[in-house]
Amino acid sequence: MNYFSEKDIRDIVAGVISGSGAGVFAPSCGGQTVPVEISARHVHLTEDAVSVLFGAGYQLSQKRDLSQPGQFLAQERVKLVTRKGEIDNVAVLGPARKQVQVELSLTDARSLGISAPVRLSGDLSGAADVLILGPAGMYEAKGSVIVAKAHVHMTPEDAKNYGVSDGQTVRIRLDTARPATLDNVEVRVSRASKLAVHIDFDEANAAAVDANTQGILIKGR
Ligand SMILES: [Zn+2]
Repeated sequence: MNYFSEKDIRDIVAGVISGSGAGVFAPSCGGQTVPVEISARHVHLTEDAVSVLFGAGYQLSQKRDLSQPGQFLAQERVKLVTRKGEIDNVAVLGPARKQVQVELSLTDARSLGISAPVRLSGDLSGAADVLILGPAGMYEAKGSVIVAKAHVHMTPEDAKNYGVSDGQTVRIRLDTARPATLDNVEVRVSRASKLAVHIDFDEANAAAVDANTQGILIKGR
């Protein structure tokens, strides 16, 4: 698959067309390569929101694991609605979190007529509002919508190998048919993680990223 249709986005979801033949590292290129994974639009829900949307006491069912340990794509889907538009069939990621977080591309946000800030997951300062619809009800997600800031997940061992540390920003060179370099990509170090750069579909399509694209990590902003 080279380019992504709306349907691909729905199917693939939440991401993760991993650069995956995992281990597709190309140490021979001399650079510090990192697999690139593309995150499709998705929501993270609280237990409370799950109950509102799917019914009291409802538990999300797992469709498949995501690359980051413990995270999964749920079977369930929701619809996002604003005064200006709606997006159907949006992926739900589990497990439930402490706050509702809706991650969209800037293109999605525009189509909904909202202006969402670029933020790292977990930082909802200035986040936009949206209405989430599920089979059992609707949930008013206030201050929940962000455009995910590009980031790279790695373990402490990876960080040591790459000579970077948590919270540092690096550049990621996408060597594709339409090459681009992402600046200001934040390094997120945690023991429970798997090495991967996470970008959204706007970034991926802008740089013609495909399933085999490897990013090259460049230190310095
Ligand atoms: Zn991520």
